[in-house]
Amino acid sequence: MTGRPRPAIHSLPAYRPGRSAAAAEAEHGIVDAIKLASNEAPFDPLPSVTDAISAGLGQINLYPDHGAADLRTELADHLGVEVEQVTIAAGSVGLLQQLVLAYVDPGDTVATCWPSFEAYPLFALLVEANQIRVPLRDETFDLPALADAIETDTKVVFIANPNNPTGTVVGTDEIEHFLRTVPTGCLVVLDEAYHEFVTDPRVTDATALIADHPNLVITRTFSKAHGLAGLRIGYAFGHPDVIGAIDRTLVPFAVNDLAQRAARASIAATDEMRTRVADVVAERSRVVAALRSSGWTIPAPHGNFVWLPLGDLAADFGVALERHGIVTRAFPAVGVRVTVADAASNDRFITALSAAATDLHVTPR
Ligand SMILES: *Cc1c(COP(=O)(O)O)cnc(C)c1O
Repeated sequence: MTGRPRPAIHSLPAYRPGRSAAAAEAEHGIVDAIKLASNEAPFDPLPSVTDAISAGLGQINLYPDHGAADLRTELADHLGVEVEQVTIAAGSVGLLQQLVLAYVDPGDTVATCWPSFEAYPLFALLVEANQIRVPLRDETFDLPALADAIETDTKVVFIANPNNPTGTVVGTDEIEHFLRTVPTGCLVVLDEAYHEFVTDPRVTDATALIADHPNLVITRTFSKAHGLAGLRIGYAFGHPDVIGAIDRTLVPFAVNDLAQRAARASIAATDEMRTRVADVVAERSRVVAALRSSGWTIPAPHGNFVWLPLGDLAADFGVALERHGIVTRAFPAVGVRVTVADAASNDRFITALSAAATDLHVTPR
């Protein structure tokens, strides 16, 4: 290797993005594959959003507003918080990385339940932190066990609610109880990338918790419900000190002007977003009902995806589904995550899953 990369870089696995449909077609010699691997929105962008982007095209010779003042003001209004309590970044993964950079030194610990979002361990490795991974319980974050696992040098705890890849949620009262037991010197990052898709009544708006818990920071994104994954923009809100620390680690001009414009137009189109989310949620119910009636075990999903806890069969099912034209995200020895998309794609997935089970000589489980 050229130069002398830090040892941590050698041990860093590359982030594994969802496989493209084209890659699956080439490998398996098939046509019409569909990608249900990255929890992308199945809809075209809203006209009001593409108009807002078009309006900015004539100014791409200029740097964007690094502080995103207009967007922050509108987000603060939308969330009902002060403008110093909210910030933006290049995707909520950008925020997660910034939080780790701002709070975690080499040798500190970072805690989460597992399996969860794959970016958490990557960022911990990047800063040479030690990791605590508490097993999920019934495919769900086990907050009492996570609280017990926290050590004095634990600087950051990640809670994904809903969890990715399992789609399960914990109730807001459980999170509040957890916050009361966590030392205030430990930052609790509540990753709500799929917040808009949650239908469990135990999950209420966690924004109310930030007033009493300055060590809580909530991250959300325009990538999933708002369908702007390609523009890379997410936001965080919490105590102004935490927001300030995040801001100090933002790469200058990381959030481009077109993304800021699209995000502002998306906030203005919240009603349309909700209608689209309701369509996905209705499809999710339909898919789950169909799979369960065929005998599959599916934990209650609250994101725009479903989870098949297939254990040792997960990798084989991932390949078998691909041969039938459905690209999913298989977590070897754990399970398979499948994005809920439009009805036609979902029907193809349901059919492909039965065909994959037949190919593998297994019955639904
Ligand atoms: C998709 C996702 C994100 C972030 O997405 P961005 O596109 O970076 O905003 C964050 N957390 C979880 C759990 C996700 O699934």
